[in-house]
Amino acid sequence: MDRRIKIFDTTLRDGEQTPGVCLDIHEKLEIAQSLVKLKVDVIEAGFPVISKGDFQSVSQIAEHIRGPIIAGLARANKKDIDAAVQALAKAERPRIHTFIATSDIHMEYKLKMSRDRVLAMAEEAVRYGKQFVQDIEFSAEDASRSDWDFLCQIYGRAIAAGATVINVPDTVGYTTPDEYGALIRYIKQHVPGIENVDISVHCHNDLGLAVANSLAAVQNGATQVECTINGLGERAGNAAMEELVMAFYTRQNYYKAITNIDMKQIYRASTLVSTLTGVDVQINKAVVGDNAFAHESGIHQHGMLNNPLTYEIISPEVIGISRNALVLGKHSGRHAFEDRLQQMDYELDKETVNALFIKFKELADRKKVVFDRDIAALVSDKPSVQPEYYRLAYHQVVSGSQSVATATVRLETSNGTIERASCGDGPVDAIFKAIEQAIGFPIGLKDYQLKAVTAGEDALGESTVWIEYEGDVFNGRGLSTDVVEASAKAYLNAINKRLTVWGQPQEQITIGCE
Ligand SMILES: [Zn+2]
Repeated sequence: MDRRIKIFDTTLRDGEQTPGVCLDIHEKLEIAQSLVKLKVDVIEAGFPVISKGDFQSVSQIAEHIRGPIIAGLARANKKDIDAAVQALAKAERPRIHTFIATSDIHMEYKLKMSRDRVLAMAEEAVRYGKQFVQDIEFSAEDASRSDWDFLCQIYGRAIAAGATVINVPDTVGYTTPDEYGALIRYIKQHVPGIENVDISVHCHNDLGLAVANSLAAVQNGATQVECTINGLGERAGNAAMEELVMAFYTRQNYYKAITNIDMKQIYRASTLVSTLTGVDVQINKAVVGDNAFAHESGIHQHGMLNNPLTYEIISPEVIGISRNALVLGKHSGRHAFEDRLQQMDYELDKETVNALFIKFKELADRKKVVFDRDIAALVSDKPSVQPEYYRLAYHQVVSGSQSVATATVRLETSNGTIERASCGDGPVDAIFKAIEQAIGFPIGLKDYQLKAVTAGEDALGESTVWIEYEGDVFNGRGLSTDVVEASAKAYLNAINKRLTVWGQPQEQITIGCE
């Protein structure tokens, strides 16, 4: 019998801590829904005590998401645990994930606490949480750099106090497969009551070993792996879910372990997360990178034609990539479009499909062939649920190598339209300045990105813009075959998000062309 390994997804917690990533509640719910489709065992939804926004997103996910266990993170103190309990109140299957650091370096310099104090706090936290929630996961932060016997002691105390899962994180991405495997084996042999709880691992990728370390841990007795889609996460990221799942699946004969993941959802989840976070997947990334299934060399292609297994250990269909990429065009009707949406496994209401079909027709008029990726981009660009204070009604840009770029924009607002013109260093700068003038307050542009959704000169351009205000970062996205328009839409999307949170500011600006 193969062992069943549980997948604990922390894209919405650890992944959201990726520098530059800020997801709003609607985006978090959309990712949570795709995690349900993937059939993950646990969704770590956030760290409720950290901010109002985090608290709200955990409680919304707890209320609306059914199927997986919903976990909320909490340090080992009452205030954090209370916040997690409250945020998880409406969850079908709540889990409190509480942690305290156990390495000497963390205890001495961060916590400034003795080992005895840390032991007592861990035990108290688990016992306190257990009064409200049955399922308690206890993590020893920086476990991989902690004293092994002290670790065994603290896990024993946590289990005695009621922990149902003990987590052994490699918080700083320091361990190696052999060492980590040995640690898991040691814990399994020395912690009383360990046979009644799940052993979880949480690996960071600072040395590029997160997946290898997680696999070694599973071979030595771990029953749950913590991971994120696309390996998102702090610094070099976390273990990538798609890599772990495909390693178990492709090498089932070796690992003798299975997961519950619906692999056909992997590619779509990866695309969704990269679109919503604005963090690109590197082209040669295992499993989900653009080149993961591309074969260039003639010898390989020859072998592939005779039998794909000669050089391909995973067939792209398994993770939900269809080989027939070319699907729709200008003459495709509504029926074909709806059919394609269904084949791509989108469940959308009639109203959304109607709105998408109009966009699809507009796109098909501007672009010869519409690929699955284009459709996925249209779906993720579906009408925003938040208020649109400003909307781009019209724009014109003039630029060239001999002239200064100038842009004119007309924005629609609830008080009528505003039209402004500005010049800038290039067309995007000019249109951003024109928008800033029209709105009348300064926008702290932080970062700007533009990429093509698919290949070809008429490809859809997708722009992501980050703006900052009072320490809050807002990202906006825009989609168009016209890259300047995509950029302007992204800029306005970020501005509308900022206005939703902060309201209309007092300060005014005037910028002219110098
Ligand atoms: Zn982490």
